[in-house]
Amino acid sequence: MSRVYNFSAGPSMLPEEVLKKAADEMLDYQGSGQSVMEMSHRSKVFESIIQGAESLVRELMGVPDNYKVLFLQGGASSQFAMVPLNLMTKNKKADFVLTGQWATKAYKEAARYGEAHVVASSKDKTFSYIPKLDPATFSKDADYFHICMNNTIYGTKYHTLPDTGDVPLVADISSCIMSEPIDVSRFGLLYAGAQKNLGPAGLTLVIIREDLIGHAMEFTPTMFNYQTHSDNGSMFNTPPCYAIYIAKLVMEWVKENGGLQAMKEHNEKKAAILYDFLDQSKLFKGTVVKEDRSLMNVPFVTGDEALDAEFVKQATAAGFVNIKGHRTVGGMRASIYNAMPIEGVEKLVAFMQQFEAAH
Ligand SMILES: *Cc1c(COP(=O)(O)O)cnc(C)c1O
Repeated sequence: MSRVYNFSAGPSMLPEEVLKKAADEMLDYQGSGQSVMEMSHRSKVFESIIQGAESLVRELMGVPDNYKVLFLQGGASSQFAMVPLNLMTKNKKADFVLTGQWATKAYKEAARYGEAHVVASSKDKTFSYIPKLDPATFSKDADYFHICMNNTIYGTKYHTLPDTGDVPLVADISSCIMSEPIDVSRFGLLYAGAQKNLGPAGLTLVIIREDLIGHAMEFTPTMFNYQTHSDNGSMFNTPPCYAIYIAKLVMEWVKENGGLQAMKEHNEKKAAILYDFLDQSKLFKGTVVKEDRSLMNVPFVTGDEALDAEFVKQATAAGFVNIKGHRTVGGMRASIYNAMPIEGVEKLVAFMQQFEAAH
């Protein structure tokens, strides 16, 4: 068996130890005589899985007691609607910073339900930076303020959070969840699709401050009301059982490997190998301003589309897969989430050096 280095933006690599453990437990989960895929979500054995997963989210992320942890479905994209349906209900107004496609989708969806106000945008330079924010331009009476913390497609990230005062800060953390410590108490709501850094597709994690639950718009579908899931321990209907189980294994792996502070150090080391190479390369260059660089998604180009295509082709043949950039940026993108080992990045850089020498 040979496994590739998978630089996909998502779904993405999972830790090999997790896949092996899941394989070992596939036919008989801990003496239950069943796979987790087959068991009732109302069984004692599954209850211990979902409760264990919630405890790990709380422990690893330091979630305060006045926040609920919800295991939902529908992807981060469903949160683009669920957030306004539940939160945009007092003054029917919210603020948005447009730092890429996902942030823009969140804004457009919210604009269907209320007054969505664009505070700043980096669209003028293909989202290659995080705009400087001036709190004087924020809506004082906004029901929430939305950011996309790590911009998966463009490779930027907020290194400091906007100061929104009493306005709840809402963040899409799909592509940076558990990549480093986060102060949950700074946010009203956090959400993430699992398939970047937490587990398989099909699970969406929501962490919401309790006082923001229970104010949904009248016509909100039952399944889109946070209250429904909060009141029922994420078991109003059948949850994505197997995805929750794998996320639990991933979180156990994160914990065994030192938790979020250790993930941060590991991710900084990996990203530095790639960025340091890009900064001195005469062929490849990063597309993002230095101070806003992401630790998770690293886009880069040669400046010549044909050469980019040749690089992607040769890299794929050499076992570095899914490294083609998003169509709106072009070039390449290496997504180096928690599960990407340091050797994966070292070998990629060695391959880039060879390619550079040959071109
Ligand atoms: C991938 C991604 C999404 C979309 O997630 P789905 O689960 O596919 O809906 C949204 N936001 C960010 C930041 C992402 O990286």
